[in-house]
Amino acid sequence: MDYRRNFDIAFVGLKPGVHEFNYELNDEFFLSFHEVDFRNTAAKVKVMLDKHHNFMQLKFEVGGTTEVTCDRCGNDLPIELWDEFNLIVKLVEEPEKMNEEEEDPDIFYISKGESHLHLAPWLYEFVILSIPMQRMCGEDEKGKSKCNPEVLAKLNNFKAADEQQTNPIWKGLDQFKDLND
Ligand SMILES: [Zn+2]
Repeated sequence: MDYRRNFDIAFVGLKPGVHEFNYELNDEFFLSFHEVDFRNTAAKVKVMLDKHHNFMQLKFEVGGTTEVTCDRCGNDLPIELWDEFNLIVKLVEEPEKMNEEEEDPDIFYISKGESHLHLAPWLYEFVILSIPMQRMCGEDEKGKSKCNPEVLAKLNNFKAADEQQTNPIWKGLDQFKDLND
């Protein structure tokens, strides 16, 4: 069986009203879509589905944890996931055309003949959107960076060496050296 079918909801059989679904997503789930830059994921997503006659309101509550890499020092950085996303799914005659024309990213169309909601791509997207773009170790209570001090010291040395190389005075001296040759 296709792994992603575990994340399908057979909404046709549901009574009108609110239904709750809970999903736990690990690295295997994310890697089944794409290579990702986070790991040790234990994401939890609670989905509240409010079923109406021709549409469904979905609320995704993302929680749990994952681990990324600090952009500055390369340390492992545990992340608490927390975010909420809302989506309206409408049942229509021509879903492809409607999806093309719809500009609101929170509205999605499916065919009136459809019986299942395929949640996997939304779960994937919403968890990824819950991970901060800026990944930094941050600072302790005293305002000191929590980045790996050894890596920061090395970075400073590289920077100093780089500045020396591109310093215009040194370039000038190199020219004289060429003339003497
Ligand atoms: Zn860091």
